[in-house]
Amino acid sequence: MIFENKFPGKDISNEDLLSKFPLAAKKSVGHKSKITIGDVEFGGEMIPIFAGPNMVESRELILETARNVKKAGAHFLRGGAFKPLTFPYRSAKYNETREKGIEWLAEAKKETGIKIITEVMEEKYIPLISEVADILQIGSRNMQNYPFLSACAKTGKPIMLKRHYGASLRDWLGAAEYILIEGNSNLILCERGVSVPHTHRATSRYMLDLQVVPAAQEVTHLPIVTDPSHATFWRAWVEPMSLASVAAGADGIMLEVHPNPSESAVDPLQPIDFQEFGHLMKKMNEIAKCLGRRVL
Ligand code: PEP
Ligand code: MN
Repeated sequence: MIFENKFPGKDISNEDLLSKFPLAAKKSVGHKSKITIGDVEFGGEMIPIFAGPNMVESRELILETARNVKKAGAHFLRGGAFKPLTFPYRSAKYNETREKGIEWLAEAKKETGIKIITEVMEEKYIPLISEVADILQIGSRNMQNYPFLSACAKTGKPIMLKRHYGASLRDWLGAAEYILIEGNSNLILCERGVSVPHTHRATSRYMLDLQVVPAAQEVTHLPIVTDPSHATFWRAWVEPMSLASVAAGADGIMLEVHPNPSESAVDPLQPIDFQEFGHLMKKMNEIAKCLGRRVL
């Protein structure tokens, strides 16, 4: 079959669905992938929640967070031991905890039973991180690093692919196809905010593209999660955008939760504390119930 790309562009054509990302494309109206990781399922009635600090700063921090978010009903502990930072200068506070951080995540998992999602930034660390992580997180900055996507896919582990803040849904599904083509279908998408002219506050960096949730669900069978923390960069907006994400049909929510948010080594304006997280879990569950789904 020969396809002519008559309308190349940022939006999705039928031809794209047939020839550019046939594996990511939805095949029929009800076609939706269910991704099962132990007792957690993405793409069904359950809306799994990832919670934890931006960075795995210390053993104490990650253990305390694991215990508290697990108690509140979180399904996964999040946190970067390997962290992409926008600027290369790192004070002691910003230092990545790397292999140590991965050990502490393993300890948190062993003690509490919570599942782990953590970012992989470099191919050489894939084996180490794969031993502990239940989901490999590919960060927004690596979204189009195609050889890296293939290397992660080849592990066969579940993957969460974050959207780059400048990428269209079409670009994003193109990247997803690089993972699916390796035979790894355990793939979850994560919307984490896009660059737009107006973000309403001087401190805002991104805008949560909530519209991409139904837009993605129209064309792909892959589950889609939102990350209101990175998108809003502002604590007070995390709750409304999390509730809105559930209402919009998101298949999971990623949240930054820290014992002392203002003390967070990275991005201290965005994490919520344990108490706020507990309340939010209950509220998200109420919205989910209206839609025949559940968070708790
Ligand atoms: C993160 O989840 O900590 C992170 C770095 O996210 P992003 O890749 O979306 O910036
Ligand atoms: Mn972060």
